[in-house]
Amino acid sequence: MPELPEVETIARTLRAGTTPLLGRAIQRAEVRWPREVTGMSAAAFEARLRGARVEAIGRHGKYLVLALPPAGHLLIHLRMSGRLDVVAAAEADTPHARVLWWLDDGHVLRFDDARKFGRVWLVDDPAEVLQALGPDALDLGVDDFRARLAGKRGALKPLLLDQRVVAGIGNIYADEALWRARLSPLRAAAGMRATTAGRLHAAVQEALHAGLAANGASIDWVYPGGNFQNDFKAYGRTGQPCLRCGRPIRRIVVGQRATHFCPHCQT
Ligand SMILES: [Zn+2]
Repeated sequence: MPELPEVETIARTLRAGTTPLLGRAIQRAEVRWPREVTGMSAAAFEARLRGARVEAIGRHGKYLVLALPPAGHLLIHLRMSGRLDVVAAAEADTPHARVLWWLDDGHVLRFDDARKFGRVWLVDDPAEVLQALGPDALDLGVDDFRARLAGKRGALKPLLLDQRVVAGIGNIYADEALWRARLSPLRAAAGMRATTAGRLHAAVQEALHAGLAANGASIDWVYPGGNFQNDFKAYGRTGQPCLRCGRPIRRIVVGQRATHFCPHCQT
């Protein structure tokens, strides 16, 4: 599933890629799988988007947020298998195209989603969808991060994955951040020293920025073009030597999620 660096890379490509979406007007929206549209009918979604212009392309956590006056804000969550591409009109038809936005320059913004878990919303205020989420992980300062972890029950790994605590971190970047911080995924957040929380905050930023610099991680067919998978320190490295101490990386399951860490130097 795309996480913050992958979604941010998609946002950057939509803003300034070879066929930028920014500034384009939507001639027609076409919903081919109505269940991906949340909170309104496909017909209402299509009607409201007609003639809207893409004024801004942002992101909060794993959500893309497009400002489309006068229609409102379009939010997109790619979930397991969602893909967004700006393509020539002749390439719009694919077996898994769920929503198409036909643009005024002859291109199409295409939302492909083989497994159909992706969701789109059209709202006046993005907060209608995002209000339950914590701050975006890239915007979260160290003091706020510390305060948000303090007093929370449970282990660090599930807390990092909890989008209500901090938005944007998923399984890959949680494992990569904990390895960098030399902290066990099983360690309790409660009672953690301020310096330790600070170390984790720095490690989260470092892992996310490393991911961004590599255009994200491409570990399956859904998200192509990233290189961060070649720089993983912990994620998916089960049995391989820890790059710090040489002992094998272990795989355990924490909160139903596969978790990779070095039991020797992450304590
Ligand atoms: Zn180690």
